[in-house]
Amino acid sequence: MDYISTRGKIAPVGFIDGVLMGLADDGGLLVPKHIPQLSEATLRAWQNLSYPELALELFSLYIDGEIPREELKQLVDESYGNFRDDEVTPVRRVNNGLHILELFHGPTFAFKDIALQFLGNLYGYISKKRNSTIHILGATSGDTGASAIEGVRGKEGIRICILHPHGKVSKVQELQMTTVDDANVLNLAVDGNFDDCQRIIKELFADVAFKQRYHLRAINSINIARILAQTVYYFYAYFQLAKQGQGEKVNFSVPTGNFGDIFAGYMAKRMGLPINKLILATNENNILERFIKEGVYQPGEFRGTHSPSMDIQVASNFERYLYYLNGEDAGIVSAIMDDFKRDGRVVITGDALKQAQADFAAYGVRNEECLREIDACFKAYSYLLDPHTACGVAAAHRFTADDEVTVALSTAHPAKFDEAIRLLDIKQTAPAQIQALADKPQFQTRVAGTNEAVADQLVRFF
Ligand SMILES: *Cc1c(COP(=O)(O)O)cnc(C)c1O
Repeated sequence: MDYISTRGKIAPVGFIDGVLMGLADDGGLLVPKHIPQLSEATLRAWQNLSYPELALELFSLYIDGEIPREELKQLVDESYGNFRDDEVTPVRRVNNGLHILELFHGPTFAFKDIALQFLGNLYGYISKKRNSTIHILGATSGDTGASAIEGVRGKEGIRICILHPHGKVSKVQELQMTTVDDANVLNLAVDGNFDDCQRIIKELFADVAFKQRYHLRAINSINIARILAQTVYYFYAYFQLAKQGQGEKVNFSVPTGNFGDIFAGYMAKRMGLPINKLILATNENNILERFIKEGVYQPGEFRGTHSPSMDIQVASNFERYLYYLNGEDAGIVSAIMDDFKRDGRVVITGDALKQAQADFAAYGVRNEECLREIDACFKAYSYLLDPHTACGVAAAHRFTADDEVTVALSTAHPAKFDEAIRLLDIKQTAPAQIQALADKPQFQTRVAGTNEAVADQLVRFF
């Protein structure tokens, strides 16, 4: 399978080269040349597969023989064998209209593990197969960093540097990243917010000479392998409901910031999974909600919320959706992104806006509503939501009609975000792995939020 850029100015690359490229060399994002189409018969045949079996089938379509099936199977089994739940991503029924898809049973208790366990193993595989140096550079609003580090710590041939906004990630997230003492890990605590971190690495990656000289590889959700890995649980969850005779009108409600997780759902739908509504949930950083409602994509003021992993103004995967919204026309996307760089906003009207509103229902959840949702769900169902998941559940309530069921994606274990839970006087006992973090020494370097300061650290580390 070939991968092409949303801006159309690179020669097509295969899957492995696409993974290594991360951000496309022309500044765009990689997308598969064709999205595979699944027949009803295939969907039926897949209905009873286990999570790893399903992942193997889906990955095979996109990797298309570049990794022999036996080796790919081994990568998949290694990636999901260490999840704490046999089902990998179990679906829990809350009530008739609402199910929760628990995506947090991986090593760092957040859904990022699903993609990053696989990507970490994939990088290990590529490093051996191609004898190539892998230097991972990533920015995190908290969960990606912990999860990416966990995916590659101690792996031969790989080094990883993660930028996080100093003091703006949750305590558990900070500890998960900075208590790792493997020599192949560098944590940079950057003065600024997540958007600053993301901008710095985007600009460093855009400097193609620098990127090649230091063998920089991406781990952020701009990497096509992450999106691919995240499509799997949409299928898996849908099949669980279909088997109970509830496959008619299944919505998915997705707490999103970088448009990564919800874009994976959009891909699954385009592949032929009969998803009813895709519900896009944001917090008070609601650029995506405003885009769907008004057609204007324009970063607003940064807001700190109870769901810090979604405190994002510029959604790095959004360009992939623009590509499909504009009929896969890379020329139009290039022009739009040039305008965005110049004017700081993208405006769509007419049929394009109607299409976006047909593709997604969107809702931005205010801070108080997020807490109210956690409280209400705990009181009514004894089910404790983390604040990101609570945004998805609040949006699910808004858009689930009487004859529909919504699967709300649970993107983190509540113990990761006890700061918010404590505001409600709800006491939770953290899992032992999380409790143990507090006693470990931390390793991190504080740096100014500039490209130069970060580049200086990288040159010394890589
Ligand atoms: C990363 C993250 C999100 C948002 O994921 P996107 O890829 O930006 O859509 C939501 N919740 C949690 C807990 C996360 O870590």
